Formats: sequence, C-alpha cells, structure tokens
Amino acid sequence: MARIKLQDVHKHYGRGAAAFHALRGVSLEMYSGEFVALLGPSGSGKTSLLRAVAGLETIDSGSIELADDVVAAPGRHVLPERRNVGVVFQGHALWPHMTVFENVLFPLRESGLNEAQARPRVMEALAQVELQALAGRTPGELSGGQKQRVALARAMVANPRVILFDEPLASLDVELRRDMMRHIDQLRRPDSSMIYITHNQEEALALADRVAVLFDGCIAQIDTPVRLCREPQTERVARFVGAGNLLPARRAGTAHNGCSQVALGQYHFSARDTSTGVSETLQLCLGPTAFALVGPDAPGLTVRVEHVFFQGSSYAVDAVLQGALAVSLSLVLPFETQPRRGDLLRLQVRDAWVMPGPPGSA
Ligand code: ADP
Ligand code: MG
Repeated sequence: MARIKLQDVHKHYGRGAAAFHALRGVSLEMYSGEFVALLGPSGSGKTSLLRAVAGLETIDSGSIELADDVVAAPGRHVLPERRNVGVVFQGHALWPHMTVFENVLFPLRESGLNEAQARPRVMEALAQVELQALAGRTPGELSGGQKQRVALARAMVANPRVILFDEPLASLDVELRRDMMRHIDQLRRPDSSMIYITHNQEEALALADRVAVLFDGCIAQIDTPVRLCREPQTERVARFVGAGNLLPARRAGTAHNGCSQVALGQYHFSARDTSTGVSETLQLCLGPTAFALVGPDAPGLTVRVEHVFFQGSSYAVDAVLQGALAVSLSLVLPFETQPRRGDLLRLQVRDAWVMPGPPGSA
C-alpha cells in the first residue's frame, strides 16, 4: 500500500506576473516504512514540498495522500495537527522554557493523553536517542547534537505515519553528523515513512532507500542510491550526485546484453548501455573508482596527475586526459598507487555508463 502519494503537485508563491512557480508538477509514491531523501540545490523547492506534506502550506493543484487520506487537493486542506506527521527542522525548534521531558511530552498532550499515560512513551522515545538521563534539563543546558536528538524524540513519540526531516544535520559539525545519522537510521519503522530533505548528496545516499533529485521544482530522477550513482539519467543529475566524470566518446559497436563497445581515442572498452540511440557520438559517465592502474604499454588512457589529495586510505586525484581530448578527470586511486603530481598514469576503464540522453542534454 502506498503510504504517501503526491500527484502532480503545483505550488506558486505570490500572484499574477510576480508569482513564483516553486513546485512544478511533483509526483511521488512511497511505501510504508520507506525512507526517501529529497536531494536538491538550495532553492529547488525542497522545503516547499515538505511544508506541503506537513500541511504548513497549501498547494495550488494536484493532491497529497497520507495512508488512505487525501490531505491536500483542490478545495481540501487538512490542518497540520490532523495529519499525524512529525517534523524535524534544521534549527531543532525546541521550547526553551520546557524541560527535555516536557518538550517530548508535548505532541502526546496535544493528542489528549495525560502525563501518567504519556510518561512511558516519552521515556521510551528519549531512550531511543539515549537521552533518558537528561530528561530534566532545559534545551539551554544541552549541546547542539543533544538538542537535535530531543527534536528527533519529539518528532517520533506520537508514532506519526510520516516523519519529515528538513536538513536536520545542516547545523552540526562533521563528528556529530555521523552520530545523528545513526540515530535517524534507528528510528526507521515498518509503519512510518520518512522524507528527508538535504542538499548534501552524501547524507542522501547514505540514509535513504530511494533518493529523489529535485531541480527547479521538478523531480529529475528517483532511484535507489546505487542506481542513481551508477545510472544517472541526465548530466545534471550525474554532476549533482557526484556520479563521476562525463566525457564524450564514440560508439564502436551495437548494444548487446545491455553493453556497448565504446572508444575514447584509440582505446576501446565496454560500457553499460540501455540507450536506444544508435548515434555514433555519446556521453559517458565514468565513476571516480572506475579506473585501474595498468602498465605503460597496456591498452588504456594516459592521464597526467595535476592534484593529489590524500584521504587517509586512498587518494583523490585530479588528472588531465592526454591526447586530443584534454578533459579533466576526478579519480580515486588506492593507497598503494601513491600518485604524485606530474605523474603520467596509464588507466583502464573497469566500468562505464552510457548517458541515455543525447550529449549535452540537461
Ligand atoms: P529549498 O528548500 O530547496 O532551498 P524552498 O522550497 O525553500 O527551496 O524555496 C523554493 C523557491 O521558492 C525559492 O526560490 C524561494 O525563494 C521561493 N520561496 C520559498 N518560500 C517562499 C515564500 N514564502 N514566498 C515567496 N517565495 C518563496
Ligand atoms: Mg530548504
């Protein structure tokens, strides 16, 4: 059963000639328990979409269903408190004068429980985020990460059918992010779905079952993290998710079993290809780890190393392809390779993806 269903949702801000079309026909179906990340650059409409699902914003056309309830449609707008949705905002938005316990108690109070009935559920929610010991403190006595964990507990305590996250990690430092990602991952329930908004591709890919990439108020692609990286449908998606290097190549054979022979200069290799195109020119997507270092006389590509960034157990390398096509490539090479600036490396391509659209398509 689809737990969340958005159909052709449109949203304008303002009216007439000055109106801004923030959501341009967003459709999305999520299943019970699914975790979908909405990934897009700033201004792409992520918060607008989340506010529309939460009921904090009306929509102009289309519809939103949560479980089997139509909560938004032309002439219908169910109020936020009646949608059974939990929200975690970037700036946790805790009530400063209430204790941690009272903050988490609040949604249960709203739903009509008294404190005695609600207490075990509040303590259970606090246990989930390892904060039972701090139940009596006020937000002013907590660190940033602890406050954000209280916000998580508050969002989930009433067993909402949907939990919405709007860039919950944006204000935390790198160490706390990983810790919070563990806590968020632990909140997953078969009966409550999650929509997680972020402009950070790492968070989206790490946490979500599926990632929806949002550009200019439209979903450009929705797929599992692995497919999004291995099979981006457009160049813009490929760039935004960091799927790899895009470079023009030639088709050197017809597609067979989902693969085609392609050529970069004199070097021929196999690429995954689901395009129906027969054009001779095509755009290839080569992931950063798609390359293997080989001897100087083996068939392959020659690149010159321009920059080397040590990453603890591997090297991120910027290199320039030698020959007629002097494009830049971003590679990740294993520790043993010890690349140095100025080195000429011979590389074979172990994995490549033929972009489905014609070269240069958005
Ligand atoms: P994101 O969360 O992806 O950064 P938003 O949904 O906040 O994007 O905003 C999408 C676009 O809509 C932006 O261009 C923003 O300026 C505009 N916008 C958002 N809220 C309003 C508003 N209340 N009034 C007018 N324009 C708005
Ligand atoms: Mg936003």
